[in-house]
Amino acid sequence: MILATDLDGTFLGGSPENRARLYQLINAHPKIRLVFVTGRGLEAVMPLLSDPGIPEPEYIICDVGATVVDGSTLAPVAELLEEIEQSWPGEIRIVEAMQRFSDIQRQEVPQARRCSFFCEPHAVTDELHTLAEELGCDLLYSAGYYLDFLPKGTNKGATLARLVEYMGESVDDVLTAGDTLNDLSMLDGRFKGVCVGESESGLLEATDKNAWVLHAEEPGCGGILEAMSHFGFLGPRGVAHEGYDDTKPGTSDLVMVYHRLPYEEVHERGKVRRQPHSSPNGILPTLLSFFADGTRGAWIAWSIDDGTEEPFVTHTSVDKQAYPNLICSRVALSKDDVDIFYKRFSKEAFWPMLHTFWERAEFREDHWEVFCDVNRKFAEKAAEEAAEGALVWIHDYNLWMVPAYLRERRPDLRIAFFHHTHFPSADIFNVVPWRREIVGSLLQCDYVGFHIPRQVENFVDVVRGVMPFQVRERQNCAPRFLTYGCAAGLGEMTTEIQTDQRTIRLGAHPVGLDIERMKQALGSRAMQKQKRLIRDELGDEGKVILSVERLDYTKGVLPKLQAYEKLLETYPELQNEVTLVIVCVPAAREIKVYRDLVAEIEQAVGRINGRFAQVGWTPVRYYYRGFPLQQLAGFYERADVMWITPLRDGLNLVAKEYVAIQGLTGGAGRLVLSEFTGAAAELHGALLTNPHDINDLVERCYQALVMAPNEAATRMRELFDIVTYYDIRRWGDEFVSGAIGVAERNQAEVEEAEPA
Ligand code: UDP
Repeated sequence: MILATDLDGTFLGGSPENRARLYQLINAHPKIRLVFVTGRGLEAVMPLLSDPGIPEPEYIICDVGATVVDGSTLAPVAELLEEIEQSWPGEIRIVEAMQRFSDIQRQEVPQARRCSFFCEPHAVTDELHTLAEELGCDLLYSAGYYLDFLPKGTNKGATLARLVEYMGESVDDVLTAGDTLNDLSMLDGRFKGVCVGESESGLLEATDKNAWVLHAEEPGCGGILEAMSHFGFLGPRGVAHEGYDDTKPGTSDLVMVYHRLPYEEVHERGKVRRQPHSSPNGILPTLLSFFADGTRGAWIAWSIDDGTEEPFVTHTSVDKQAYPNLICSRVALSKDDVDIFYKRFSKEAFWPMLHTFWERAEFREDHWEVFCDVNRKFAEKAAEEAAEGALVWIHDYNLWMVPAYLRERRPDLRIAFFHHTHFPSADIFNVVPWRREIVGSLLQCDYVGFHIPRQVENFVDVVRGVMPFQVRERQNCAPRFLTYGCAAGLGEMTTEIQTDQRTIRLGAHPVGLDIERMKQALGSRAMQKQKRLIRDELGDEGKVILSVERLDYTKGVLPKLQAYEKLLETYPELQNEVTLVIVCVPAAREIKVYRDLVAEIEQAVGRINGRFAQVGWTPVRYYYRGFPLQQLAGFYERADVMWITPLRDGLNLVAKEYVAIQGLTGGAGRLVLSEFTGAAAELHGALLTNPHDINDLVERCYQALVMAPNEAATRMRELFDIVTYYDIRRWGDEFVSGAIGVAERNQAEVEEAEPA
């Protein structure tokens, strides 16, 4: 069958449940060919195509019949457009002729091969009809307000009739649906049709005697479902049994969707062994702690299914004593899937783009398909586990498409998303070939959180280029965040937007530290041993500048080395006095960009040491390996200056770890922090530096080295207060209460809108 439907008030109308039922039915039913037939212009239809909750049409008739395009490529259907084009006098002639009608206003919306105005019923005079006749146009007036000049003989019904023929279908297999008088031409008896509930009275009167047109009870999608049953479109079983996702709600009130399991799986000799994560970052224990009070919950994460485990265990527990009602639901992925989805595509396409290195991004359609498949599997698991109205918390860009697939299955859920990486400005994000899909998916959430206001605002700007929305609330960023004091700062941010479909609340929640973990590291034997080793190696005299980061081009190690060289040249008195200690954690994967980067770093280190080293003094100490936190803490404690210079970083936890260790040990170390890190917007008291400017790198580092001890102590106190107060627990609590608050409000709005 062909379902040819008007959009506003019809396919986009009705209760959320009926919309979800109809959309699911269309997605699941291969025999339904969907055609949008709308008064909107093509550009005003495009936002709907970005909404993953709405099925993609095969064709779109827009501009009240004056435009026909392919629903997926948006290419015009030339055969059908030619005739329309020929009978169109052109927009300018009409606009000029209309200037004498001062009570008729032009509609400022996208339009092609039609000219649209607003006017009151009394303004639709004989003179106007005569003018249309002279111009060779049809005049269409609907809903008591909309006036369209159309090419002669063009209307929704006429164009649809031609399209049905072009599609090779019979008119008997068409169901048309509409709600206003400009749909009348589709509801004139040529096709089976439905005036959905709450249709314009003029349309109901005009179709009253027509046996082929059903006047449905339910508005919008509910009315279309009624008509499908009424006309027996889906066979004897009707719509009630076709295409439903019969997933029963699960029992979890909180569902974490995180790419990693809360424990590590080691595949050994045909067996899977579990162990704690080798590099826990504080987030995992915090997320787990939400289940410590007995909350019924599920943790969705991938696991490799390579045939070792027979049969594959779908559900495991984490720690039955600590989290009695938490189950892990494992998404079975092949090694290839993991390699593409997680290691390659996410890192090759999205990671560079997100960090504004878009020229390095490689976008491959086949990888995107794997990415979507994997995301769909995560969403299916979440849909199975979540109880009615449960909160589902999805993490990071690897899982961007999960909200779309999840909302389609479970309109009842409260969906919240936290973005752990930087989110770039629209000019950069828009290079992504699938930006509409991604944004459409994120807009299925009730709540979307980022680290800092700048990232929120960048996201809002990206949405602005994809679909219309209203900003419902804005907030000042100060005093919590820096405003004009750093590149990552902002004076005001958007906290709530409203699209056609829902209200989405946005929040800035910089991830915090687990201070207890820092204290434990300080008290550990490994830390004491490390302190001794560092003292033996570097002595107690002389200043230590520390740099700790993963090997990545975003982290700015090379510019830092160049700046260090210049620092030693500019301030020769520092020679023999300072040592730069670089801890660079090797990248997980051996790819060429990283190999080249290692070589360049090693070259720079060699050059500087070769040039400046003296007996008993090595200017740069370079460690190309990772240390456990207990050992890292030894470096943090010893460092006089922590020099963190990423060209772009979503947050930067190292900065906070340094502050925590200095604060806990009564130190007054100086934090020099790139103003392009998320943490810079939050850490009042840091010396901010611009890593794109070598002079600034040199001067800020020098300023830190010579800073008076009382200034350094004051700054450290301020930093330490922030890091201890906004710890990881507060981060989690604030995110969840933001997410629950808005979801409850959304639900209340839906209930208010529904008739009692
Ligand atoms: N890290 C570590 N050992 C090292 C160097 C770093 O365990 O030798 C940890 C560090 O403690 C921090 C994390 O790696 O928790 C790096 O986090 P950050 O936010 O600074 O950067 P990311 O790697 O997430 O971009």
